[in-house]
Amino acid sequence: VVAIDQVHKRYGALEVLKGVSMRVETGQVVALIGRSGSGKSTMLRCINGLEAFQSGSIHAAGHQVEQDQAKLRALRKDVGIVFQSYNLFPHLTVGENIMLSPRITQGVSKADADILARKALERVGLADKFAVYPEMLSGGQQQRVAIARSLAMRPKVMLFDEVTSALDPELTGEVLLVIEELAREGMTMLLVTHEMNFARSVANITVFMHQGKIWEAGPSAELFANPQTPELQAFLSNGV
Ligand code: ATP
Ligand code: MG
Repeated sequence: VVAIDQVHKRYGALEVLKGVSMRVETGQVVALIGRSGSGKSTMLRCINGLEAFQSGSIHAAGHQVEQDQAKLRALRKDVGIVFQSYNLFPHLTVGENIMLSPRITQGVSKADADILARKALERVGLADKFAVYPEMLSGGQQQRVAIARSLAMRPKVMLFDEVTSALDPELTGEVLLVIEELAREGMTMLLVTHEMNFARSVANITVFMHQGKIWEAGPSAELFANPQTPELQAFLSNGV
């Protein structure tokens, strides 16, 4: 479960989140959509503790989110986040990239990390790439490795921030398929996406953010079929 209650977040004088409340239930997939600058990435970063917020509360996977190093470490073990840029270490193999976090942050033995990494790679359909260097892979494959790297921590909740935006159109499908498969397996996920067809078909709930607020939210099929506000209507018809 992710429970967000009345979160306010400012960058200096700029109020970016203006009292955001929302929930992601266990096993649910929630899509977060909205215009550029509406606060979607900031919301995800607050959930993972990458950004502090001024007021309100966030609970994620049994953790209360607060800026305390030990608590953040525990939070991030259970709440994975994947970004648009996958940032794999080029001098490490795919397997070594994935083993790094469990080894360093959880003190997992090398043998156990190896097993975790191979299992995670299998889930993203790249079991045969364990010993390969990232530069040998396509962008879509590298992003799948980044997802595997998160999965190797055995998270309870996954956050995705526009993970297909940097990819050539022909490579987005393979990454979306991996996320769809995670949804089928019951992973709790909150994903920011510009892929409206994907949100409609995979997300149970879609949330439309506008100017730092939840403007409209509901079951995806209904929200896309019957947008209630002029702002969501405009966003769905021309993306602004
Ligand atoms: P996009 O679709 O372009 O990714 P977004 O909905 O993810 O947009 P955010 O990245 O959350 O939007 O940004 C929300 C607002 O906060 C924007 O006005 C942005 O300029 C501002 N902002 C984001 N990060 C910072 C920062 N570190 N310092 C100051 N302002 C920031
Ligand atoms: Mg963003």
